[in-house]
Amino acid sequence: MGKKVLIVGGVAGGASVAARVRRLDESAEIIMFDRGPHVSFSNCSLPYHLSGIVEDSQKLVLMNPEIFKKRYNIEARVNQEVQKINRDKKTIMVKDLTTNQTYEETYDTLVLSPGAIPIRPTIEGIHNDNVFTVRNVEDIEKINTFVKQEGVSKITVIGGGFIGVEVAENLKLAGLEVSLVEFANQVMAPFDYDMAQILHKEMVDHGIELILDDGLAKIADGYVETNSGRKVEADAVVLAIGVRPETTLAEEAGLAIGETRAIKVDHNYVTSDKAIYAVGDAIEVYHRLLHKPTRLALAGPAQKQARAAADHMYGIATRNQGIIGSSSIHLFDLNAASTGLNARTAELAGMNYDSVYIMPGDKVGLMPNSNPMHFKLVYEYPTGRILGAQAIGKGNVDKRIDVIATMITMNGTLEDLKDLELTYSPMLGTAKDVVNHAALVALNQLEGRYKEVKVSDVRKLVENNAFIIDAREKGEYAQGHLRNAVNIPLSEFRERLNDIPTDQPVYIHCRSGQRSYNMVMALNNLGYENIYNISGSYLGINLYEYYNDIVTGREKIVTAYNFK
Ligand SMILES: Cc1cc2nc3c(=O)[nH]c(=O)nc-3n(C[C@H](O)[C@H](O)[C@H](O)COP(=O)(O)OP(=O)(O)OC[C@H]3O[C@@H](n4cnc5c(N)ncnc54)[C@H](O)[C@@H]3O)c2cc1C
Repeated sequence: MGKKVLIVGGVAGGASVAARVRRLDESAEIIMFDRGPHVSFSNCSLPYHLSGIVEDSQKLVLMNPEIFKKRYNIEARVNQEVQKINRDKKTIMVKDLTTNQTYEETYDTLVLSPGAIPIRPTIEGIHNDNVFTVRNVEDIEKINTFVKQEGVSKITVIGGGFIGVEVAENLKLAGLEVSLVEFANQVMAPFDYDMAQILHKEMVDHGIELILDDGLAKIADGYVETNSGRKVEADAVVLAIGVRPETTLAEEAGLAIGETRAIKVDHNYVTSDKAIYAVGDAIEVYHRLLHKPTRLALAGPAQKQARAAADHMYGIATRNQGIIGSSSIHLFDLNAASTGLNARTAELAGMNYDSVYIMPGDKVGLMPNSNPMHFKLVYEYPTGRILGAQAIGKGNVDKRIDVIATMITMNGTLEDLKDLELTYSPMLGTAKDVVNHAALVALNQLEGRYKEVKVSDVRKLVENNAFIIDAREKGEYAQGHLRNAVNIPLSEFRERLNDIPTDQPVYIHCRSGQRSYNMVMALNNLGYENIYNISGSYLGINLYEYYNDIVTGREKIVTAYNFK
């Protein structure tokens, strides 16, 4: 018998370590422990059981102990909780949760992949029977059963991160009345506030009641009360306010814990004890762009860390490049993805950065299912180094964001992205892809070829009666426009130069930014000095304004919305 490897946790990280060790060493004795009844289930697919997209919850379980044993000679012990690590003896104490018996198991190498625990704040009602969290198959079955058996019609989700948003979406698809309460002023923190407005619109348009800037104060019979005193009717509550790394075992064993309160590991995922590795949601990772420790609860990194840890056990070198944080989500009719830093995190980190927001078509316009893709690119000023991107649309946002993630990882700049040779076919994309386009616009901005204001500045401009040109055609203007915009279509402006003032700033928009950009450049070339493109243009302005208009009832800055 070769090396004895014990693994705590049998899902994303744990099962990946086990499989890789087996591929590297046929003689190793591998035992994987999980306190739950399953190993190797698809955490990321859990919310889809609520809508019935994954009808049979057992399909969420990808592998069972019998298959692990037969195919891989890996022993997967379920309902077994690892309760203690005796580092001096190199043993662990395990409690069999079916018999309540405790036993000891020796190891040569121990791997911790215990994941993260959903946070439950200490507030009134938090332990009521109708309050749930989502971590595993049992959790999602409990919610589904409760909803069906108790005839739940109103449910409140607390937390607007990707788990809360996916749970809310799937409950809505199941026909429930869903409210979502979020402490911040937006859902989905990887997105900037301007981009998040598109997600807010999608949620409210599909009937989810969004309560932002408010937190959970207490859970009472039939309702939840928020910090602002609002009472939201709820037969059940799903808590998704975040997770904290599961560090109890490691802490009690005296392993080093990092500044983010996750398990500290080295370059090779070795803890402060050379015989113990740790991977996944429980560990502290290094942020490649922010140059500091952070936490990242995502499946891809967990699996890659697992492979790297197993490789290191067998002397295979790995490169720890740190993380940048890439994620994606599907939300009703939209897809959204992001990578790296958004403008808010770049600002908080004190970085010198700028951003562009464009919305080119995701395919050639005359093709079926061609839709705008909202794309925001964040880059370092003045180096042009790419820092991050966010994309939202009906099409392949993940392809675009994956390109940017690759660029960031290879230290790419706007110049690299501009010339990146990507595939093209009219049904799939455009000859100059969204990401090339973003780089070109950003380079124009970086090199000072034109000036722009952000979509978030437009309300103030309208309220201050700034001179705004709407460069769309008259028919488009008639269907809805900024309250005080002057309609000078791109096709007419050369004959109407006298209508354009030279003694004050002039702001120009069209529908998606292309016509306004052409007018801005033409006016710059004609010697006008105070010309600004409005980033986001009419479509972006409408999307940016819509959610706050409808929830606050404030005066609109457009005469009519137009989202086409
Ligand atoms: C609802 C949901 C949706 C998600 N969606 C996505 C997504 O779309 N994309 C994405 O990248 N990530 C997603 N994630 C996150 C992803 O699932 C995690 O990042 C990943 O599973 C982490 O792997 P891990 O091995 O660290 O922990 P886990 O996969 O959580 O596994 C840890 C296991 O360890 C067990 N355990 C803990 N302590 C002990 C102990 N003492 N003894 C025995 N067993 C123990 C636990 O029971 C658990 O089964 C989602 C997570 C959830 C909950």
